[in-house]
Amino acid sequence: VIKEHYRNDYKMFESSISKDFKTILTMETELRKALKEGQFELHYQPQKNIVTGKIVGVEALLRWNHPKEGFISPGTFIPLAEKTGLILEIGDWVMYEACRQNKQWQDEGFDPIIVGVNLSAKQFHQSDLVERVASILNKTGLHPTHLELEITESMAMSNEEDIIQTLEGLRDLGVYVSIDDFGTGYSSLKYLSRFPVNKLKIDKVFIQNRKQNEAIVKSIIHMSHSLDMKVIAEGVETEEQLSFLKNERCDEMQGFFYSKPLPPTHLNEMFQKQTV
Ligand code: C2E
Ligand code: MG
Ligand code: MG
Ligand code: MG
Repeated sequence: VIKEHYRNDYKMFESSISKDFKTILTMETELRKALKEGQFELHYQPQKNIVTGKIVGVEALLRWNHPKEGFISPGTFIPLAEKTGLILEIGDWVMYEACRQNKQWQDEGFDPIIVGVNLSAKQFHQSDLVERVASILNKTGLHPTHLELEITESMAMSNEEDIIQTLEGLRDLGVYVSIDDFGTGYSSLKYLSRFPVNKLKIDKVFIQNRKQNEAIVKSIIHMSHSLDMKVIAEGVETEEQLSFLKNERCDEMQGFFYSKPLPPTHLNEMFQKQTV
């Protein structure tokens, strides 16, 4: 009876987790394969200086070009990559590829711009992050001031001493650090004034519900400037949003109104138009 009981228990246990477990295992295998077989691609979304209208940077956004499923968005697979730890290898690839591409654009004669790379929490908390970044810059030949690392509020707001050490290490190296999706996490203004961070990226929810969030957007812009930081608006989709941001002296913009994230060759064409 006892044996039977356990067997049933085990079966129930198995049926409830096996589906998730298999999905994770399959996904992990697929992600590994994707990395090995070059199924990952970076698309780049331009960032414009609002006053001059010049492209000053691009954000690298990961795309999985799956042989059967087609393009899979990062929102779907990044959380799994985080869970399995594969995000570290994927993240290294992203940073290397983004730096390599940016250096290539410079070598092709385009005006130097900054490439933004999103860091996952696991990546940011690696104790050798600064050395890794330095080594990638070294290998690709990209100057540190042409790389910006995007972290989120929640990454910056925990375990103070380690975070400060990492951020100072990155600053000493010369790379920029921005806070992504600003306003959606648990910001502590205490941290914000202490941490060496160069830029705030206002989350797109505030831009898209602009009227409702007008006071918040204005405050973030003014606060950034008081703290000697730059500020960029994400998710700008309309002319009206852009002119509001211009009025409020927001430094930069990024969004579908100007351009979606695009494969690197498309960026070449945009840069070309700028230089003529
Ligand atoms: P994020 O870093 O905040 O990136 C901005 C997201 O907003 C991108 O979605 C971009 O396509 C989208 N976006 C840009 N402009 C507009 C707009 O005007 N309207 C709207 N509705 N959306 C806009 P995407 O590419 O799907 O990336 C989603 C998230 O996945 C990113 O949010 C980032 O958190 C994460 N991610 C992407 N690539 C990487 C990566 O290489 N590493 C890590 N760790 N995370 C990544
Ligand atoms: Mg980002
Ligand atoms: Mg964002
Ligand atoms: Mg994000």
